[in-house]
Amino acid sequence: MAKETNSENPTDFTGIRRTPPAEKAAGLKAVVSSAQHILREMGPTRGFKALALLNQKNGYDCPGCAWPDPDDERSPLAEYCENGAKAIAEEATTKKLDAAFFAQNSVYDLSLLSDFDIGKKGRIAQPVYLPAGATHYQPISWDDAFTLVAKHLKKLNSPDEAIFYTSGRTSNEAAFLYQLLVRRFGTNNLPDCSNMCHESSGVALVESLGIGKGSVTLEDFYEAEAIVILGQNPGTNHPRMLTALQKAKQNGATIISVNPLKEAGLLAFSNPQQLGGMLGMATSLTDIFLQVRINGDMALLKAIAILMLEAEKKAPGTVFDAAFLAEKTEGVQAYLDSLSDYDLPTLADNCGVPLSQIRAAAEVFIQKKKIIACWAMGLTQQKNAVATIQEIVNLLLLKGSVGKPGAGTCPVRGHSNVQGDRTMGINEKPPQAFLDNLERVYSFKPPQHHGYDVVEAIHAMHRGDARVFIAMGGNFLSATPDTTYTAEALRNCDLTVQISTKLNRSHLVHGREALILPALGRTDEDIVNGEKQFVSVENSMGVVHMSQGKLRPVSDQMMSEPMIVCRLALALYGNYQSNIFWSRYTQHYDNIRTDIAATIPGFEDYNKRVREPGGFYLPNGARVQQFNTATGKAKFTTSEVPTLQLHENEYVMMTIRSHDQFNTTIYGLDDRYRGILNERRVVLMNPEDAAAAGFADGTVVDLFNFDDGVTRTAPRFIVVYYDIPRRCVATYFPEANVLVPINHTAERSNTPVSKMVRIEVKRAG
Ligand code: SF4
Repeated sequence: MAKETNSENPTDFTGIRRTPPAEKAAGLKAVVSSAQHILREMGPTRGFKALALLNQKNGYDCPGCAWPDPDDERSPLAEYCENGAKAIAEEATTKKLDAAFFAQNSVYDLSLLSDFDIGKKGRIAQPVYLPAGATHYQPISWDDAFTLVAKHLKKLNSPDEAIFYTSGRTSNEAAFLYQLLVRRFGTNNLPDCSNMCHESSGVALVESLGIGKGSVTLEDFYEAEAIVILGQNPGTNHPRMLTALQKAKQNGATIISVNPLKEAGLLAFSNPQQLGGMLGMATSLTDIFLQVRINGDMALLKAIAILMLEAEKKAPGTVFDAAFLAEKTEGVQAYLDSLSDYDLPTLADNCGVPLSQIRAAAEVFIQKKKIIACWAMGLTQQKNAVATIQEIVNLLLLKGSVGKPGAGTCPVRGHSNVQGDRTMGINEKPPQAFLDNLERVYSFKPPQHHGYDVVEAIHAMHRGDARVFIAMGGNFLSATPDTTYTAEALRNCDLTVQISTKLNRSHLVHGREALILPALGRTDEDIVNGEKQFVSVENSMGVVHMSQGKLRPVSDQMMSEPMIVCRLALALYGNYQSNIFWSRYTQHYDNIRTDIAATIPGFEDYNKRVREPGGFYLPNGARVQQFNTATGKAKFTTSEVPTLQLHENEYVMMTIRSHDQFNTTIYGLDDRYRGILNERRVVLMNPEDAAAAGFADGTVVDLFNFDDGVTRTAPRFIVVYYDIPRRCVATYFPEANVLVPINHTAERSNTPVSKMVRIEVKRAG
């Protein structure tokens, strides 16, 4: 009988070492670290071939974040960063897991390993199946696997009993076919990783500006007079952004950073593409660093708006862009009137930033006209995330700083094609126009009722309302909140199917039956009918471009994601039952793109335009001051400033990534920039808070959350004295996700609030 597997990391320590936090990012150390990962996983020949093609116009797109490539010349030296190199090393490793591996390693034994150790095992080399009650995965043919999935799906009482999850690595072609299959099956249960990351940005921007995407291009960074970076750590999560910030600085821009942590990548950048950078010289980046309390952003932004209004009143027409406000916006007066509800000292106290520093930042907003605002999870995973993002938009609108060169919004996507997947229809709340286009092109009526997002999907599985879970990529268990609850939900399914490249913990916490289907990765060559295929992706700036795998796959039993979807559809429907000729898509991916062009506006002539070097920009109304809102105007919004009352021994926790991590993929155990090496079970605490609680630097503690009457425990963490605002603490995910309550989600976007969790810290028993 199979023993219940371990849904969390073991609590064993790995031997912490500490160095002073870095004050600059990248440089020679980044190059050395990249080379070490590449050589360790792939060896020199395959390794350096892989790097030479990364982010090149005739190569493949980085499976890391969604920072754009330059439209013009790509760096011949290296058009990638350290974490891009690590992402490639992870995916293109020569280590592979075949039937022998699974025969030797029980699911239970594997679950006792850390996420780092599980991930380092290698690529899934063939389809494997775990029958009910079995202890080991066993080989299965592709045909049998598809037949099994089709059998389970057909057995359901309703299509809504199936959930189809998508991770942001999925290409446009695979995502489009996946949503088509799911809607033809009869449900909109298409939760995706966007639900956990920039959903709040989408909801906020659609209402305020009429499009859920950022409005700037990479070129705008080089023209900006000011760049404001909120709740983002680009040095680790979007490292090539540092090159753009360096160029912006050289062009005279002022940079304001708003973050509870003084991240090295916000402070300075040693560009390894420059001799000076390799010798340790660095470009200072941030001019004004505002070390805000967790979720103090709204109070800070309100304070800046009040100071802008004061300056405008003193010299009318010198601060606000009156013409833009009159012609292009609505609601400005109600917004300005709402500011009188607040006073500066209270707001400064709320956000934890001295008023003098707030005045310095406000002066930049007062003086500059071309302002770009960038943000990431530090904003989107907050209870009032949507309102805070709209407050940023309010400030930009006051300046007319949207839809002109050097100005606008920039939600920086953390997953290479998360934006593309949404554009392709991976959306549990699809716009009516998208469903109507699907019906027009494919002559079937897609389901009209909304599906489950990530949190709703977990609840549905936990209740037993959903019985089949299929994941296109990702590591659902480790990426989601409330790990214990989510594990119970997955175990409650009849069947879980993971379409994956590498082994991860979601393979070890599974339904009564489970399948792992090995997919080709971004770097893998994909040959169909003797012809090399390519896929396409969309970056944070809305550029759609091709990506062609060039490396020989480590196994000939892997299948591309588009092909997996088609084969599953054929197993479900055959070729004719569904009005969709799935086999046509298995002939050539141009056929997929032809139908995307017929269905989704902006993709006209897709096959021709995607072959142009660098690809093409999708239409973006906000980029040209065409605001596709209900009134055709950009919309000011008014919202409250939240206050958080903590009990005596309570702290507010944010989960973060280490520098050796991409989402739930753990590349290594060293958080080099923060000086925390060889250990992940750490809690960063303000030294005064820790001392007041009787904890020394290095004390072992247990962490607790008690929301909704549930005791959530994350045992054995090491206290690390760190420069973080009082009563704020930080931990790494996925280790601390067990503390994030499933019902603790952002208003309106339902994004898990992983950046603002109440916890208690107690000396370990
Ligand atoms: S910045 Fe992002 S997309 Fe670019 S190489 Fe690095 S991880 Fe990859």
